Amino acid sequence: MKNITAKAEFKTSKGASVVVTAELILKETLYADGDNATVDCCKMGLIKANIDGFPQQVGFTEFADTIKHPDGWTIHAAIGKLGLTLENLTKVKSAISELKQHPAWSAKQTKIEKNRREIDKMETARNNHPGYCHKCGSYCYGDCEANFVP
Ligand SMILES: [Zn+2]
Repeated sequence: MKNITAKAEFKTSKGASVVVTAELILKETLYADGDNATVDCCKMGLIKANIDGFPQQVGFTEFADTIKHPDGWTIHAAIGKLGLTLENLTKVKSAISELKQHPAWSAKQTKIEKNRREIDKMETARNNHPGYCHKCGSYCYGDCEANFVP
């Protein structure tokens, strides 16, 4: 499958046009011990912002608390050093959600959820086993150095 992208466009407060690109990576080439192996995968790529007249900014961060800019507006997130107002953040998030509509993404989320349930089940069984020791992490029935009292 080919990688797919979604774009969001807006202008900075000073009028420079910004094109934000989000990418869903569905195929990648890995260096496999001297051989390049192309494999299917499903993961979000880096969020990139191409700003007219400025270096490309990379990496999306959503802030827990907003930042008040001296000019009066509020910054809710950033792509690299490019601050995003709530309006622009909404545009970027909608591009990301557009990618998350892809069937490969939903299938991966279903698989992650299924794995999480299976892990929970195995951990519960392990924790309820009478010989399992939480101190050393094995089935020592309490006969280990972690339980040794001098
Ligand atoms: Zn033990």
